Amino acid sequence: MLGTSASGRFFFFGGGLLALLAMELLAPYRPSSVPKAKRWANNLGLTAFNSLVLYGLFGGVAMKTAMHVTSSQWGVMNLVALPSWVEIGLTVVFLDFMLYIWHLLNHVVPFLWRFHRVHHSDPNMDVSTATRFHVGELAISAVIKVGLIFFLGAPVQSVMAFEILLMLCAQFHHSSLKVPQWFERAFWILFVPPSMHRIHHSVIIKERDTNYGTIFSFWDRFLGTLLAAVDQNGIRIGIGAYSKPERLGFLQLLWLPFTRPVR
Ligand SMILES: [Zn+2]
Repeated sequence: MLGTSASGRFFFFGGGLLALLAMELLAPYRPSSVPKAKRWANNLGLTAFNSLVLYGLFGGVAMKTAMHVTSSQWGVMNLVALPSWVEIGLTVVFLDFMLYIWHLLNHVVPFLWRFHRVHHSDPNMDVSTATRFHVGELAISAVIKVGLIFFLGAPVQSVMAFEILLMLCAQFHHSSLKVPQWFERAFWILFVPPSMHRIHHSVIIKERDTNYGTIFSFWDRFLGTLLAAVDQNGIRIGIGAYSKPERLGFLQLLWLPFTRPVR
């Protein structure tokens, strides 16, 4: 089961990556300011490094927890018998809301921002930005996720559904794909389109501290953190203090949380 879940996620990760990369190359939103190959080496280097370290540390603990809570009937969803599609829906909505809060905390708590800076320091955005994270941020969030699966009593298939949806949504809204306006507008009613997340990657701090949603766009709308009225063509991506991409190599990115905490 664990092997299947890991290979399932890898299949969706690889599929999303290749499909979006091909589309980005054919119809880019705008030309990149930094050679794609350099950024890809960093971003995919981090992705591979993180996967190895997290697997070594936790070894698929989220899925093991999900199996354990199902067999021992832990958690609030096991208090009543629910059809599996309801369990999947509740898990996706609840974990996405928790992720919204976690993402907001990553911006307002200085200790967490140290790690989250690695994600925002990318000077351009594309599908590879979706998995550019510091391993420290992912390790802390993995521990929180285990607690949430226990609380919820989420079965394996609903955690898998969340993970896959999360991955594909993040890949899509980080992509530099030129998306037709009508599609953006329709998608935006429920989900996070690239234009909404692009504002979140702006160098302007008051723009960056908005649009925290990953799958659904309504958390930002309900909780007053939505920002849409920004000239998309004027958005500069990244962190103002890190304007020299040659200083943001793989090792520098790993060390970034332990350097001066610039906003
Ligand atoms: Zn962020």
